[in-house]
Amino acid sequence: MSEAVLAQILATLADLKSNQQVLSDKVDKMQVDAALSKDAHFLKDHYHSSAGHSDSDGDTVATPTFEELATLDGVFTDKPVLTTYVGQKGVKPSKLVWGASDPNTRGPVIVSHMASQINKRNAVGAYGGSYSIYRSLAVAMGDLPADHKPNFENTEPPINIKQQPQWSDISKIVSMDPFGHLTSEYYKSEIEKGMDIRPTIAITRAHMIVPELQAEIKAGTMHVDGKVFVSEEGELNVHKAAVDPVWYLPGIAARLNVEEDHLRRSLFEVTGGMYPDLITRPDLKVFLPPIGGLTVYIFGNHEQLSDPNTRLTVRVHDECNGSDVFGSDICTCRPYLIYGMKESIKEAQNGGVGLIIYFRKEGRALGEVTKYLVYNARKRGGDSASKYFQRTQNIAGVKDMRFQALMPDVLHWLGVTKIDRFMSMSNMKHDAIVDSGIKILERCPIPDELIPPDSKVEMEAKIAAGYFTTGSIPRDEDLCRTVGRDWDAFHA
Ligand SMILES: [Zn+2]
Repeated sequence: MSEAVLAQILATLADLKSNQQVLSDKVDKMQVDAALSKDAHFLKDHYHSSAGHSDSDGDTVATPTFEELATLDGVFTDKPVLTTYVGQKGVKPSKLVWGASDPNTRGPVIVSHMASQINKRNAVGAYGGSYSIYRSLAVAMGDLPADHKPNFENTEPPINIKQQPQWSDISKIVSMDPFGHLTSEYYKSEIEKGMDIRPTIAITRAHMIVPELQAEIKAGTMHVDGKVFVSEEGELNVHKAAVDPVWYLPGIAARLNVEEDHLRRSLFEVTGGMYPDLITRPDLKVFLPPIGGLTVYIFGNHEQLSDPNTRLTVRVHDECNGSDVFGSDICTCRPYLIYGMKESIKEAQNGGVGLIIYFRKEGRALGEVTKYLVYNARKRGGDSASKYFQRTQNIAGVKDMRFQALMPDVLHWLGVTKIDRFMSMSNMKHDAIVDSGIKILERCPIPDELIPPDSKVEMEAKIAAGYFTTGSIPRDEDLCRTVGRDWDAFHA
């Protein structure tokens, strides 16, 4: 075959390919247009007329308005409501004034998708954070009636977390509902009328036993005082609060320094289009995201948390399951957590208060799968402090996704205005707290003897990147010299 013929064939093929692309683009556009017009038609028929009609497939469908939906049998609407729109007939969100100091003016957070309430929703998402997914499974399997209403008898907090001025300051609290532990009290009449309104905070009291602290009692380095440490076996008295996230989107956007619309679009797209109301209901300002929350452990008298004359020790800890629970020695997480507890307990024993705040933000909120991939890349690629952050960056695209800007809300909820001893070296945590208006008087690094040898890599890398230290800041050549244990050593 001559070269000229070959060139002609190739040119024809290229032409065909480009025509094919043009055609394919046209078909795509037609499909999108058709889908959009069908969607518009569907929504119009469903919500803007009350007469029965046939849909494009010829099936007769019910066309209830939202007022009529409430009277339908069954827990959910007969056809799934994919989304709702601002100003849609029948949509009447229950009043929710974020930042109001009076709980009645503020109003309850309502997210239920049940037919009886779907038009009254004033928030996007679902109660229970990530556990809303398990609830969906239980409903699907018939284990849980979809309209089950919790019985809140005797569930109220054993202590009173006093309302603080911060509860009604929208610059201070945007990522949790400050009234979240009081819903069954403040919104009792709405609940009794059948509304599904749930607490997003629960407070309880407990005894806990921590082996490292038991050992301190045995060694005589800590003592039983009868109030915090209550027995020679090392039993500890504690109050604790579990907090589910409740986001006031304008406030979250402001904290993160982005536009609210932009934030909503990102939440919608990156979660696979999970919450269309984020886009179609800009009037709904509150979002209950399907993520983990936090737990607060209080040692000592909670009533003194807001008293600036009482000393306060705080450890803000982000979850690290491998170390916290299973004792992995590649990082300092559990040792630092225990050290934070020890100093918090000592503070409480001396008449102050100690706080541990535990956030479910595994692996710098990148998740444990990403974390283990990073571990592999570190161990295979030469585990040195100089390359520590780069390994995470290569895989996750960022070094960290914990967004500490939202973290101080819980401190404001408790009325904290100053921290005497802050048990953390993180510059990000420190700056977020100080920027939110809370003073930090002393920063306490983890003592050297508590740092496992293999976690020196992480520690040096963090200090070089700006973490607080009372020691020296490692130079570049030091970072190259600080290396972790080789994988082969595991089999020795
Ligand atoms: Zn860790």
